Amino acid sequence: MPLADYVNALQRLRTDSGAAKYPASTLHRAPHKPLLLLSVLDLAARGELSTNFVSLTIDLGTLFADYWKLVMPPARRGNLALPFFHLKSDGFWHLVPQQGKEEAFAAIRQIAGMGQLRETTIGARLDAELRMLICIAETREQLRNALIEQYFHPDHHEALRQQAAINLGAFQYSETLLNQPRSGQALLAEQPSNSKQQVRRQGFRRAIVKIYDHRCVLCGLRLVTEEWKSVATAAHIKPWRIDHNDDPRNGLCLCGTCHTVFDLGLAGITEQYRVTLSRQISIDGNRAGYISTLENRELIMPDNKSYLPDLNALQWHLDEVFLR
Ligand SMILES: [Zn+2]
Repeated sequence: MPLADYVNALQRLRTDSGAAKYPASTLHRAPHKPLLLLSVLDLAARGELSTNFVSLTIDLGTLFADYWKLVMPPARRGNLALPFFHLKSDGFWHLVPQQGKEEAFAAIRQIAGMGQLRETTIGARLDAELRMLICIAETREQLRNALIEQYFHPDHHEALRQQAAINLGAFQYSETLLNQPRSGQALLAEQPSNSKQQVRRQGFRRAIVKIYDHRCVLCGLRLVTEEWKSVATAAHIKPWRIDHNDDPRNGLCLCGTCHTVFDLGLAGITEQYRVTLSRQISIDGNRAGYISTLENRELIMPDNKSYLPDLNALQWHLDEVFLR
């Protein structure tokens, strides 16, 4: 099929509609399928669509969630499983069942959530011709524009396009941090000033959660929601404001609670990579809960030892932030 046919197919997706269910920003139609497709275009822009197979990854879930936030009210939760499953009725998206789960897969009419999808499906194959069009920058942008213009209010077009640019910039920044951290600043300088901070934060977080596979280095927590949001955050050991250092060795993957505890100096990390707790966690009135069990616990280490946290930065944190 030529480009025009795929533009046509993408603009005629079967989507739910209703003014009571969906806001004006999405032209009162369900935005799930267009947002998933925008996310897939972003994977291609990164060079991550080397075959026509689209896997169910947390990265894809994060792209989808970031687009969702732009066009949907904060109280509405997006579920990636819905468009991933239901796009199969649009002709170019072919789900691949898990081996041995073909019958269970064939029986599904309504998908319950990501759990059911992952149990029965390994991913989806795109039409090979569509994948080719998506992998060429010029035609990819034509398909992107077709989606944005068809399914979203003009007030949101610029933000959706900007999000695509931020997603690409953040990906490139994260890969640079992982491979040549010293080049990070140069790459950042090329970003437009209005999105530079977003690219930097998103890119730094992506690098850190990738190194630690979304696990909190202090308590070991790894939690991903049904919507495929990970609770993992990326913390700087020596804060960004001090020496603008996004080197992954100046980063830690932390859950929300441990992030706060570390930033407040209630926990530190010794040169043996063990947790040390401030006496202040047990002052009158505090109930430190599981935090008090972390004393002397060995840090969750990155598989790749070249990303080990920088001992100088950890010592700086012990000297300047840690509450003795
Ligand atoms: Zn934690």
